[in-house]
Amino acid sequence: MRRKLAAGNWKMNGTRAALAEIAAMAEAAKGGAEVLICPPATLLAEAAQNEAGVAIGGQDCHAKPSGAHTGDLAADMLHDAGARYVILGHSERRQDHDEHNEDVRDKTRAAWDAGLTAIVCVGESLAERDAQNTLDIIGGQLAGSIPDGATGHSLVVAYEPIWAIGTGKVPTLDQIGDVHDFIRARLERRFGAGVGRSVRLLYGGSVKPSNAAEIFAVSNVDGALVGGASLKAADFVPIIQALN
Ligand code: PEP
Repeated sequence: MRRKLAAGNWKMNGTRAALAEIAAMAEAAKGGAEVLICPPATLLAEAAQNEAGVAIGGQDCHAKPSGAHTGDLAADMLHDAGARYVILGHSERRQDHDEHNEDVRDKTRAAWDAGLTAIVCVGESLAERDAQNTLDIIGGQLAGSIPDGATGHSLVVAYEPIWAIGTGKVPTLDQIGDVHDFIRARLERRFGAGVGRSVRLLYGGSVKPSNAAEIFAVSNVDGALVGGASLKAADFVPIIQALN
């Protein structure tokens, strides 16, 4: 049985005043679904200390455990600050930082070595969808970004169509279902049925209170990775409740 997961990606948003939003989400986190917030790194330690009921995660990590990498964070540093998850391969990292599947795979290994659960993001551009290449792209990202040895505990996969992130556009429920079923089949084929069925699959891209319940009813959708609507408890709590 896969535990539902409501994950919030705060991106480059939030100062210490925003920690009150996490506190306000904690009550909803007492339902069945797991609640995760990935705040900016500056807030990680305090968020992890304050709110035992809300899991805390990073938004990226370096592939190396330490060294001369100015501005970067090692997976072990995130873990030491209280993180239990890390988002890897988000399309904004792939675009803004020229990250490729191999980089994401190396970072995922580093995350596992540090005891973090990696949320590996995959997703097609609009041009790729229009050219009917969606499943090829997703298949390539899964094969290239996820190292061998995944387990249901160490890996979560987030399907995030690039064209749906922050745009208000959402794929049809059939399109979401097709991709999630495809990801599930690929994971089962590569890692075996037991592991493949235990990895949680999140949908991400313009999830909001008004569309969360219908998206969560799609087969193989085990929760959501939410950007904008995770910043405020008033938006995120109804999304959590749609999973509970
Ligand atoms: C995201 O960035 O992971 C995301 C899904 O953003 P939004 O919910 O704002 O579309």
